[in-house]
Amino acid sequence: MNQKQTRTIMKKISEIKEKHTKREVQDLELDKAERIAGHLDALSPKCTDCRNYLEELKKETVNLAVLNELDSKTILNYREFLQTICNHLKEKHEMVQEGTGTSLGIAIGVAVGVALGLSVFNNIAVGIALGLAVGLSLGAGIDSRAKKNGKMI
Ligand SMILES: [Zn+2]
Repeated sequence: MNQKQTRTIMKKISEIKEKHTKREVQDLELDKAERIAGHLDALSPKCTDCRNYLEELKKETVNLAVLNELDSKTILNYREFLQTICNHLKEKHEMVQEGTGTSLGIAIGVAVGVALGLSVFNNIAVGIALGLAVGLSLGAGIDSRAKKNGKMI
């Protein structure tokens, strides 16, 4: 429905990518911006918020593409804007941010690993190694399921 807007966003993002250093492109989280644009495009027929966000994302990205130099404030503002949309996608559309499963897996793995290491193995290092192995594979499962269902931001 909003394909024209999404095309503009993608075009501007690739212009920005060409114009700036790899580091700046990474700081701007442009890959995430591309994925967000895709989700907003798919959701906007059903969700007014997504429709508005898509329009705003287009404006912000067009403004960004005009700039020849990026200062840290500009980069921060863009990232905060992307995060606002991310929060909406997570809350309203049950999406998962990339790497969520991994960080969750590490957190749980270390916690369980320390507990097991202290009680069962009497060796924290062994406990953590085991906890991490299990936690990471659980996390990878969460991430890949989200990806398969098209719920990955
Ligand atoms: Zn929405």
